[in-house]
Amino acid sequence: MRKAKIVCTIGPSSNSRHVIFSLIRNGMDVARLNFSHGNHEGHRKAIEYIREGARTYKRPVAILQDLQGIKIRVGLVKNGSATLKRGDSVRILKGEGLSDEKNIFISYPGIIRDAKKDDRILLDDGLIHLKIESKSRNFLKARVLEGGILKDRKGINLPFRISAPSFTEKDAADLDFGLKMGVDYVALSFVRTAKDIKRVRDWLKERNASVPLIAKIEKHEAISNIDCILEKADGIMIARGDLGVEIPPEEVPVLQKRLIELSNKKGKVVITATQMLESMTEHTRPTRAEATDVANAVIDGTDALMLSGETAVGKHPVEVLRMMDRIITFTEVESSAKIPSINRRGCLSSLQHLHNIFDHNLRDLLFSEAVAGAACTTAGAIGAKFIIAFTHSGFTASLVSKFRPTTPIIAFTPDEDVMRRMAIYWGVYPGLMRPLTGTDEMIKAVEESLLKERRVKTGDRIVITASTPILGSGKTNLLKLHTIGEGAQD
Ligand code: PEP
Repeated sequence: MRKAKIVCTIGPSSNSRHVIFSLIRNGMDVARLNFSHGNHEGHRKAIEYIREGARTYKRPVAILQDLQGIKIRVGLVKNGSATLKRGDSVRILKGEGLSDEKNIFISYPGIIRDAKKDDRILLDDGLIHLKIESKSRNFLKARVLEGGILKDRKGINLPFRISAPSFTEKDAADLDFGLKMGVDYVALSFVRTAKDIKRVRDWLKERNASVPLIAKIEKHEAISNIDCILEKADGIMIARGDLGVEIPPEEVPVLQKRLIELSNKKGKVVITATQMLESMTEHTRPTRAEATDVANAVIDGTDALMLSGETAVGKHPVEVLRMMDRIITFTEVESSAKIPSINRRGCLSSLQHLHNIFDHNLRDLLFSEAVAGAACTTAGAIGAKFIIAFTHSGFTASLVSKFRPTTPIIAFTPDEDVMRRMAIYWGVYPGLMRPLTGTDEMIKAVEESLLKERRVKTGDRIVITASTPILGSGKTNLLKLHTIGEGAQD
């Protein structure tokens, strides 16, 4: 039972019933729909296939809607390309004009207002570097520090403070569509401060809607504001593509480890993303460095690992998923002792952070944390086959998961939305269960379900956690050790 989860980006290579079904059969836990590309019709089709496939194979699959945010690009380039040479002087203008060797038009309307002398502008994934030398009313003058060939519609990174909000009109229209389609998570691109998350939460509240928000960490400012961002978001994505352009590449690995550790301590979901098995976009085997990158993210303690272009536009979307599954599984089996458990590090540092997702008071959180931690150590001590978490909101399951137990967690809930959301939690296997009213009934139902699915046999031990009264939510206060076949009263 693999514990770290896999996110697959759906794109032209995978947006068909056949491939999506195959991805689900082969272990896709979360399907990411990238709203920087495609249209609503294409995304609608993907959502329908994902839901149908999940029902067919009885596998919970969460849908993550990734909003474009304030993505900045050059427009069209004269004759399709322009060669920028080191030492050249260029003008930067705002708008959609035709760029060439002397004038570069940038789609962000605030470029001239926000940029200052000595700021840098990075074009085409950071391959071309410009440094601003002066600023006038209608344009910036910049020097080419590193040259290259600029092509149509290439992305731009502005590693300085930009004033426009990261949640755009396009994002609002896309999110509206996503809510109607019932997406399970929403990722916000280019988050800089906790305010960017609050803005979306307020937008959702005005519409009486709620969906867990994942902040994509890809701007240098997000790194300085990471504590506040983690407090407000339900999770983060380490978006190493843009992040590695904004900050020097040598800083990415250590930062990745720090972000995973912080998220784990705060009980928030963390996804490690981008170029994990990049060479498999073309080839059928990864490089050794890529395999090592996947294994290292697992050992660091990431909840989930993401495939981007590999499954969206790559030649082998299913093979790359299988390969990632194999690397993760092998790594977990061979180095489970190295995966950081909160137990070994001391308790979750600040339970306050869990308020956003689950809306509980602190006393309940303290109970819950103590019980979840005890469930994990007890399960290890008695050699339990599973930790069973009964959960209404996903809270109990998320807490147990954050202790990173070696024992697999099965999380039962009566709520289908919650079941899908739990698909991203490390080590959690979500299942649907009818609403139950009493503890004895709960134990009986667990036994029946586990025996029916041949997950246990008579004599196996399990550890059950839940909140009582059973119909309430949010206070994990019950820990029950149980031997299969010995009835509810043992
Ligand atoms: C990234 O930059 O790494 C990322 C995941 O974002 P996107 O794919 O939207 O560029």
